[in-house]
Amino acid sequence: MKVVLENLTKKFPNRNKKEHGEVTAVDNFNFEIPDGKLIGLLGPSGCGKSTTLNLICGLQKPTAGKIYFGEDDVTDLPVENRGVGLVFQNYALYPHLTVRQNIRFPLENLRGKDKMTNDEMNAKALEIAKLVQIDGLMDRKPSELSGGQQQRVAIARALVKMPRVLLLDEPLSNLDARLRLQTREEIRRIQHETGITTVFVTHDQDEAMSISDMIVVMKDGVVQQIGKPQQVYDDPVNLFVAKFLGTPPINVFRGVVRGGKLYIGDAAVLDVSGAEDREVWVGIRPEGFIPAADGALVCKLSGVEVMGRDISIVSAHADSENEVIRSIVSAENAVDITAASVHFSLKPNKVFLFDRADETRIPVSAQ
Ligand code: ADP
Ligand code: MG
Repeated sequence: MKVVLENLTKKFPNRNKKEHGEVTAVDNFNFEIPDGKLIGLLGPSGCGKSTTLNLICGLQKPTAGKIYFGEDDVTDLPVENRGVGLVFQNYALYPHLTVRQNIRFPLENLRGKDKMTNDEMNAKALEIAKLVQIDGLMDRKPSELSGGQQQRVAIARALVKMPRVLLLDEPLSNLDARLRLQTREEIRRIQHETGITTVFVTHDQDEAMSISDMIVVMKDGVVQQIGKPQQVYDDPVNLFVAKFLGTPPINVFRGVVRGGKLYIGDAAVLDVSGAEDREVWVGIRPEGFIPAADGALVCKLSGVEVMGRDISIVSAHADSENEVIRSIVSAENAVDITAASVHFSLKPNKVFLFDRADETRIPVSAQ
């Protein structure tokens, strides 16, 4: 089931009474979510992710715009008639009910031709429990489960009516690091097996990048960029997106374009033919640095961290916005850790230029 968001906008009265006016939580969001895909909705806290999800499921009504499931206009449909499955950060299970009862709960309210017998509901609950691999825990209460198991029960409950769309709002945030990794892979598998169009909200770029078919990066209610994770990483439209994706984060320098060359300080670090003379922000991905004796970018060496296959060179530069510059290079590179400085040449496709004022990407013909 494709989901179409058309000029979707949500404004709230400002919570802070002293400030007048409105907060635009979601600002003219347009996107056709392809059928059967997993979309990662990504951005910092307060950027409008949850509001977008609440609009899609019907918990909130848009100020303007439309939502379609397939060809159906669902904008005015109440939540219970949209056929959505919802999973939130806090699992919100019924504590006095067993796993089986929690999972089958949504089926109990079915009426008319959809009404199910007790045996049918138990069979359906077991089928879904198998899918999320908690079928051995059916008679336990939520308090007898780990956080990861509780979240699986919540996912099973959201899936038991086979929703048209599955919506997950930071579903992994309450889990510890190891379980988070494991559960996100599980969500990916379950989504693949069911083929249900899914929107997954997270502030964690690593999480979104690793499981999404496409990511949507938001800031202050405004969609910044939509694309496949790798494509957005390789081709960010602005400095915000470039900084938001990637661990370690992108390194940002003050730079100047002059006569087709990019300068950081006095050093001409890259040919950028086609770019006009101007001041720029220079973003360099950690993997964009190549240690080289004749490299033009000279940084003050602070240390080297061995990470097995790779090493992380930690350095500093007067024109760097980041206090420390982190570059990741293959462990085969010999770096003299006793030296005062390290020289780098740069991989052109890992260097991005941005306007100093509005921070949009500046195209460079070499890239
Ligand atoms: P996210 O989920 O990305 O953290 P939200 O969608 O929850 O962001 O919030 C987006 C913006 O809308 C924030 O500025 C938030 O304070 C505001 N907001 C959200 N819900 C309400 C509400 N019910 N009333 C007033 N402002 C709200
Ligand atoms: Mg939220």
